[in-house]
Amino acid sequence: MKIDCYAAFGPKQQLKKHSYTQEELGLHDVLIAITHCGICHSDIHLIDDDWGMSVYPLVPGHEIVGTVIERGEKVQSLKKGERVGVGWQAGACFECEWCMKGDENLCDKDQPTCVRRPGGYATAIAIDSRFAFSIPPELSSENAAPLLCGGITVYSPLRQYDIKAPMKVGVVGIGGLGHLALQFAKGFGCEVTAFSHTPSKEKEAKELGAQHFVNISDSAELKKASRSMDTVISAVSSDLDWKAFMGVLRPKGKLIVVGASPNPINVTAGVLIGDQKMIAGSVIGNRWLIKEMLEFSARHNIQAKTEVMPMSDANTAIKKVRENKARYRIVLTNISQKGK
Ligand code: ZN
Repeated sequence: MKIDCYAAFGPKQQLKKHSYTQEELGLHDVLIAITHCGICHSDIHLIDDDWGMSVYPLVPGHEIVGTVIERGEKVQSLKKGERVGVGWQAGACFECEWCMKGDENLCDKDQPTCVRRPGGYATAIAIDSRFAFSIPPELSSENAAPLLCGGITVYSPLRQYDIKAPMKVGVVGIGGLGHLALQFAKGFGCEVTAFSHTPSKEKEAKELGAQHFVNISDSAELKKASRSMDTVISAVSSDLDWKAFMGVLRPKGKLIVVGASPNPINVTAGVLIGDQKMIAGSVIGNRWLIKEMLEFSARHNIQAKTEVMPMSDANTAIKKVRENKARYRIVLTNISQKGK
């Protein structure tokens, strides 16, 4: 089967129309006709080869929603015609310690969806059915797509680090990840504070679930928030005043980093020791958590705020994300937008 797609042919290049031939499906694979694919910042890091792992031609895309159109011989869990989603991870060894413990997102042999294999800026994708997830009917495809990577990235730390009511949770950076983190933390019954450099985001942050808003460009405001949070989730991909944010934590507080800030997090040992604070990271989530996150989103009406653009406008959309103009996630679609 020929699959049409958009691919980068070198670092920092525009995507071009491309196609490849999909060979026969593996025993556990499904072939998905893609209707929607979100644009994640990681796609742009991959296009630019920021992580030194990109192989060209590179077909980005790992926030995929579509319909199962073919199944490998051993696929039982998904039916033809079923609406499914695929996120960052497309494979794991299923044999190592981490896979056996149900932490397949930590598998050493994990296979990302759009690294060394074509991703979701395409008409279709063949993927291991164990990494394709049924989408609850309450979620629209365009809103569900960003949950598959952005959503699980912020949902997983809340569950992993046992964050629940009535804890006070701060979310730094109200963008693609942060706008979902606010909704999840509210859904967990926490008291939620949005920390942002952009005061104009206050109204929307509050509509999304924040009770409080701190403008972090104003150091006095940030100082006022000292020792007020049990957990701070950093969803920014820039550097922060880390010392100030450690000060925002209450004793035993945790700073959880999910945004890829480029430079070292400069914090002295004393900052961690004195009030028994912790800095932790988190990467996507295991398969069970992804399934749970989708169900939680359906139950609590958690939705990514999206702007839908035709797949053929992928380059325009990427430019918008690069310029930080997406509010809050752009989702590409193969469905004709005529009449909309
Ligand atoms: Zn992603």
